[in-house]
Amino acid sequence: MNAIAEQLRKSGRTSIYQPEQEGLIYPEEPSFSSREEERRHLKERLVGACRAFALHGLDYGFAGHLTVRDPIDPSLYWTNPMAVHFADVKVSNLILADHEGTVVEGDYAINRAGFVLHAAIHEAHPDIVAMCHAHTVYGSAFAALGKELLPMTQDACAFYEDHVVILDEAGQVAVETKAGHKVADAFKGVKAAIHQNHGLLTASRHSIEAAAFWFIALERCCQQQLMIEATGQVPKLVTQDRARYSREHVGSEYIGWLHFQPIWEQLVKAQPDMFS
Ligand SMILES: [Zn+2]
Repeated sequence: MNAIAEQLRKSGRTSIYQPEQEGLIYPEEPSFSSREEERRHLKERLVGACRAFALHGLDYGFAGHLTVRDPIDPSLYWTNPMAVHFADVKVSNLILADHEGTVVEGDYAINRAGFVLHAAIHEAHPDIVAMCHAHTVYGSAFAALGKELLPMTQDACAFYEDHVVILDEAGQVAVETKAGHKVADAFKGVKAAIHQNHGLLTASRHSIEAAAFWFIALERCCQQQLMIEATGQVPKLVTQDRARYSREHVGSEYIGWLHFQPIWEQLVKAQPDMFS
């Protein structure tokens, strides 16, 4: 068994994508010698996630917030600065905030609506380490329908029985703490949520890379379902057994992380200022 397969076995994960041949180039999950090293890594990947959102056109003014739990003080989380374009986020302008929305490190303000949602979900679910939310064209349009994503494609199966539609506080901007708690309650045991009349949210118990990739994927699935439904034809759905099988193989946290790796590598080459 090679190192990657061994790593997957130890972590209890298996993947149909793991290489069986030794000595080939393949992404490996990081390990850290200190919490400080892990923190630097997480901050860089959070910046990478923001830059990826910019590349995918997921910005809308100052809306949109990505968070990752701090490895040194898990009651705090790092997030993107208020009113800074995703393309301009870098390690040095990230902010560290607590669950009350107080900035404890960094020069920029925090997005209040963002902290209400993210703080409530991070607080209610200690296992969640990263979250993404943005007001996107297709995700927000699909959210107006107030219904689940259907297993119309193999990619959409990643979300089969692994997302919820949240009706609470639909369409009302979340600036009150109780609104955040209602949304947090609905976020049990799933990696994604469609908030009616609002937009998409994803969460990860693994990494910011997984949360970011599943957000990009969910936006794409919403676009595809809208396109399919716009034909007026009845789509052929993936059967329940196959959808569950596909979700287990293409919808895991590890696969989300793995999908993000080529995006990260491209960003490292094209946007080295993100490390500044
Ligand atoms: Zn929002």
